Amino acid sequence: MKALVIVDTQNDFCPGGALGTADGDRVAAAIAEVVARGAGGCEHVVATQDWHIDPGSHFAENPDFVHTWPVHCRADTEGAAMHPALADAAVEEYFHKGQYDDGYSGFSGTTPDGGQDLEAWLRAHDVTQVDVCGIATDFCVRATALDALERGFSVRVLTSLCSPVSEEGGAAAIEEMRAAGAEII
Ligand SMILES: [Zn+2]
Repeated sequence: MKALVIVDTQNDFCPGGALGTADGDRVAAAIAEVVARGAGGCEHVVATQDWHIDPGSHFAENPDFVHTWPVHCRADTEGAAMHPALADAAVEEYFHKGQYDDGYSGFSGTTPDGGQDLEAWLRAHDVTQVDVCGIATDFCVRATALDALERGFSVRVLTSLCSPVSEEGGAAAIEEMRAAGAEII
């Protein structure tokens, strides 16, 4: 089985948000279209959400935009909500991450009730392949794809459905994911 993993396509990571990436709106709309048309053959569709409560040094007054960030995606706020284009998308399950840490990888996420983590959910649904897309290419998409590879999933990164913080960072992350064994689409 194959799953589409939509990473952090949330308001705060899109234009107008606390940490908006330039391509966020376009990518959110494009992902919604792919999901509506059968998710590229994926039997399952899940989404991760950055969901900060008290993430420590992840937030900073003078962020460096590498290790520290302006306040974003506070749990249960509009900024942490999915982009409106994806509000009604057929997502089977959401995984919240970063409550008390950076939470870059979707694999650190759990269902909203905290009951199941992403890997357990995927295994319970016989998923062996994941298509990864979302925001941001150079941070949470990267961390999620690398973690998926490490856990033995076969991974494709759908680059036309990804938005980076910076172009250079996104390009470097794509090469890193490719070198680690991801198929870059
Ligand atoms: Zn964050």
